[in-house]
Amino acid sequence: MKEQKKISPKKTTTCCYCGVGCGIVVNKDAHERIIVEGDKSHPVNKGMLCSKGLNLHYTVNDKSDRLLYPEMRYNKNMPLQRVSWDVALDRTVAVFKALIKKYGPDSVAFYASGQCLTEEYYVVNKLTKGFIGSNNIDTNSRLCMSSAVVGYKMSLGEDSVPISYDDLEIADCIFVAGANPAWCHPILWRRVEAAKQKNPDLKIIVSDPRKTQTCSIADIHLQLNPGTDITLHHAIGRCLIEDGKIDHEFINNKTNGYENYRSSVFQTSLTDAAGICGIKESDIRLAASYIGNAKGFITMWTMGLNQSVIGTNKNLSLINLNLITGHIGKPGSGPFSLTGQPNAMGGREVGGLSNLLPAHRILANERHRNEVEQFWQIPLGTINPKPGLTATEMFDELNTGKLKAIWILCTNPLISLPDVRNAEQGLKKAKFVVVQDISNKVETLQYADVVLPAAAWTEKEGTMTNAGRYISYLSKVTNAPGEALADSEIICRFARKMGYHGFNFKDASEIYAEHAALTEGTNIDISGLNYQILKEKRAVQWPYPKLEKRPGTARLFEDHEFYTPDKKANILSFSDKNQSEALTPQNPLILTTGRIRDQWHTRSKTGKVNKLNQHISESFLEINPDDATPRNIKDADIVEISSLRGNVRVKAKLSTDIKPGVVFMPMHWGLILKSDLNRVNNLTNNLIDPISKEPDFKYSAVQVKLYKKE
Ligand code: SF4
Repeated sequence: MKEQKKISPKKTTTCCYCGVGCGIVVNKDAHERIIVEGDKSHPVNKGMLCSKGLNLHYTVNDKSDRLLYPEMRYNKNMPLQRVSWDVALDRTVAVFKALIKKYGPDSVAFYASGQCLTEEYYVVNKLTKGFIGSNNIDTNSRLCMSSAVVGYKMSLGEDSVPISYDDLEIADCIFVAGANPAWCHPILWRRVEAAKQKNPDLKIIVSDPRKTQTCSIADIHLQLNPGTDITLHHAIGRCLIEDGKIDHEFINNKTNGYENYRSSVFQTSLTDAAGICGIKESDIRLAASYIGNAKGFITMWTMGLNQSVIGTNKNLSLINLNLITGHIGKPGSGPFSLTGQPNAMGGREVGGLSNLLPAHRILANERHRNEVEQFWQIPLGTINPKPGLTATEMFDELNTGKLKAIWILCTNPLISLPDVRNAEQGLKKAKFVVVQDISNKVETLQYADVVLPAAAWTEKEGTMTNAGRYISYLSKVTNAPGEALADSEIICRFARKMGYHGFNFKDASEIYAEHAALTEGTNIDISGLNYQILKEKRAVQWPYPKLEKRPGTARLFEDHEFYTPDKKANILSFSDKNQSEALTPQNPLILTTGRIRDQWHTRSKTGKVNKLNQHISESFLEINPDDATPRNIKDADIVEISSLRGNVRVKAKLSTDIKPGVVFMPMHWGLILKSDLNRVNNLTNNLIDPISKEPDFKYSAVQVKLYKKE
């Protein structure tokens, strides 16, 4: 076949999947179909793309599943019908006004996504906190990043990733805790693999109850029991202290809390710690020696630490290893939380969590509230100091009836929330549900009173911030199908119809300019940044203040002055006891959930791509033969997994890569096949970390049986 002539000038954008944030060059063929290739000039990926990024064009070229027009049902028993934008938004305005008048502003909520662009996050946060008068705006980033946010804040004084991606290439020890970047952050991991090839002395430590692809280049895999991460980190800390491998000068001059930390890590002997973790004492010592001998040491983690009922303390215990060794603010050193979603960090920058204000300002701080109120030109005292509902709390409050209406943007909670059948009950009880999405297949549509079609990737412009503080621009390349609109435009139209001022933005660049101006003088100041600079440089790291000549800030804390009141970092101490659901004779196995290489979240995009479905085509349960054999389970048998919340049925995959006593299911599958029996969140529990409010996805008590048809 003759190659299609490329007719459009190339435009640059950013991958809309994981938090690595790879740069992409987009072109169109003669049939207006998108063609993608890696952007060689982008500092993050230097031209590389993983399997998901390489196949992104399929997800936008195939418009068969797109929502094209606003739809509405006139009562809960009627089907959705096509209506105009005015009719859909007028109805939503009328219902929101009536509910707010009768029950108060906290009777409504917005549930957004780490896949929203920064500009979209900004306007929905402004609408909710500044004008509706509620803090009920939270996002699915609560499900993946909030423990890291709190960890950074408590230890460093600010939600701030200290390192640059380039630091990974000059570190000589990287400790990957509770993460599988080889599958979940592939391009970043390729950079680490290349660094390891160049420098065989680079030591890689992995801690994970599963032997994953990431372990293939690890010098040591600490296959710990789920929930024992703090014990492991404390034990490594103890070894470093005993071996004299800590940085006394840094500890004395730049930190608080070391003495308490020292006594807390010495409370458990190394032998006991090894027993609790289910690993060899000698392996703990070896890992500690790699760290102790390193000139540059990076800790890298993601959901294995974050998604836990003790997620905040897991984060703090790992960051402590950087602090006691002084490995922060130096080349090749620092703590580094990987974000799961492409714009989890951008959402936090605009304050898109129920306890935050723009530019990481604090809701509870009156001066911060007043700064924002003055900037938004709203009366002082408008912003409520009380935190709003978090992700899981919103669905709990729909169940109790306290929350009446929810507006769901760009996320699919009926697959992704823990204890999802409880969340589904909440949606059934809601008085009013708005769903704003690109896909006509998301499960929430069955409960929607109003459906608002949104523009997808390449159909709108904006920005995102990746896991390394790199802010990156996304071009609009094609028009959205039907009457779909950019998410920010939908929110602004609604706000104007509500009668609110401050939503007359000419385009996304004006929203960005307002957001950037509001950061001025804060720790994340990007007031010197605009779309023009981003288009030229492709990606820059915040902060980027006005009058700044340098291209962003590669590494934070080089002066070892932290964002705490006394400018010292906090080495914090706490118990290492796990608080997860107890195992019982009825539910004796630990279920942990996670991603697979070629699927993304709830498969609304990757599920459309045949090439990606070929990698692993259906959900499964990974189980050790030691647990399968006594249950008469063989490879590929159908098994039923049950917990106190519900059950699922999938094929068993027998593997010695997972520890006995632990089973794994991917998070991606759900109702798309019109059966919820492959939806892992039927099983997960609704416990949350008391500080970060992040769910405990990595530890639910379950039973597994061979499934026999009655
Ligand atoms: Fe996209 Fe992440 Fe793959 Fe990069 S590594 S191409 S950001 S999915």
